[in-house]
Amino acid sequence: MSTRNRWHTDSDETVCCIACGTDVPRTDAREYDKHGNRFEREDKQFEFLCKPCHKEYSHQPRNELEATLVEAGAGTTDDTTFLKRYVAIVREE
Ligand SMILES: [Zn+2]
Repeated sequence: MSTRNRWHTDSDETVCCIACGTDVPRTDAREYDKHGNRFEREDKQFEFLCKPCHKEYSHQPRNELEATLVEAGAGTTDDTTFLKRYVAIVREE
């Protein structure tokens, strides 16, 4: 069977994982949008992560970031105040 089914052509596409450089099937890859918004898709080129890297990316420890956000008053103060505090805290570190 050397003839490829045309239905298969699209799903055979591979993409390159931006973290480890492995070629993975497009269907197996996870989209990674460096702008953090997966819903505005126009004029955008998504980057891709393979599953293992995506897992690692999602589970990076972020305790410090969360502590900083809480200290800055995330969710308890208005955006301007929060941002000012946040920048002040980050600069101190
Ligand atoms: Zn990878």
